[in-house]
Amino acid sequence: MPYPNSQKYFEEAGKFIPGGVNSPARAFKGVGGTPLFMKKAEGAFMYDEDGNELIDYIGSWGPMILGHAFPAVVEAVRNAALGSTSFGTPTVIENRMAELVCSLVPGLDKIRMTNSGTEATMSTIRVARGYTGRDKVIKFEGCYHGHGDAFLIKAGSGALTLGQPSSPGVTAGTAKDTLTADYNSIDSVRKLLEENRDEVAAIILEPVAGNMGCVPPKKGFLEGLRKLCDEHGVLLIFDEVMCGFRVAPGGATERYGVQPDLMAFGKVIGAGMPVGAFGGSDEVMSVVSPNGPVYQAGTLSGNPVAMSAGLALLGELKKNPHIYDDLEAQSAKLENGMLEVFEKHGITVANNRVGSMLGFFFCEGPVESFADVSRTDTKFFSRFFHSMLAEGVYLPPSAFEAWFVSHKHDDAVIQRTIDAADKALASMNKT
Ligand code: PMP
Repeated sequence: MPYPNSQKYFEEAGKFIPGGVNSPARAFKGVGGTPLFMKKAEGAFMYDEDGNELIDYIGSWGPMILGHAFPAVVEAVRNAALGSTSFGTPTVIENRMAELVCSLVPGLDKIRMTNSGTEATMSTIRVARGYTGRDKVIKFEGCYHGHGDAFLIKAGSGALTLGQPSSPGVTAGTAKDTLTADYNSIDSVRKLLEENRDEVAAIILEPVAGNMGCVPPKKGFLEGLRKLCDEHGVLLIFDEVMCGFRVAPGGATERYGVQPDLMAFGKVIGAGMPVGAFGGSDEVMSVVSPNGPVYQAGTLSGNPVAMSAGLALLGELKKNPHIYDDLEAQSAKLENGMLEVFEKHGITVANNRVGSMLGFFFCEGPVESFADVSRTDTKFFSRFFHSMLAEGVYLPPSAFEAWFVSHKHDDAVIQRTIDAADKALASMNKT
């Protein structure tokens, strides 16, 4: 599959944009080669600047639950833009959005919109610090919470792919307040809490980790964290930026039945428009400005175009809960088909799946932590990635990212993917 136009545009991009991309995870650094420049997308397919058709398993890194260019979303965006792209005043659509999200997510009394997932997670930490009067935060190795300073310590996603999980530019003072535990290890959290008694404001995690591949919480892990938080007066924060509205209408909070004190959302909540949000109980959120002393703001927060897009998507998900059964069924077909093909070609693979989030790791299983994830054969993944691309399947360009299935990944799309994997692995065996 040739892509000369993408190569030309990438070269051009490098002249004006650092590394040619506006977000590192797009750069193909983990797999090598040139990122494709997309022109449009519809349903389960993306079309690049060379006219190649690609089955999409990134889904804009999560939000395209109903597929690209979902008609109700497109219509909502068009109508909203006709009424102005921004007012900088309250609007009724913000009320409707807040009401809808609070109705979907258990224990969410109040929600504040932001413009990205990063802003949302940063705000949860500030709220937790303001609420508890403590400074330290516990996060988990391999989880990614955006590029806020406090989170760029042993981070996942692009930071991990680039081999820079801890970034220069983060001050020693900030780094010292971020403590890192092992995902799925309650003991590692207990130890940190005991060593830092009365100093920890919050524990933040991806309740389904999607930034080191897909790694679900082990039975009892979330419950154990809840209990430890209660014992130590620490707030529990679920970063639902990826899994919110995806693993269930009410996200991981609903799926696992464990109640966090604060939640961060992003991506999905704006149907692909630049949106994030954070929220929690009335009591915790009462510290947020202008009612409380913890400052948080945004000129474009609650933007009418973004809110309209999000409302259209979430409204659809609420109206049609069968979507989640369909996603489960299609994703299981993909999972089983891929496992069969890997087995046929004698490939060692471990995998995890939560609903429509999937992770394949080229190593022995089980994969339950960052240490396990690190065993995956990244060189093999890179070859597999490029062979799949040649067959018209666009996987996330990193061994450490989850694959996302949309409602438009029907039987034909899934079968095409499985056949492509069969061909890709056959061609790899020859080289
Ligand atoms: N948290 C999680 C779990 C994420 O996956 C991401 C983005 N990949 C973020 C936070 C940051 O969101 P954004 O890129 O919108 O700032």
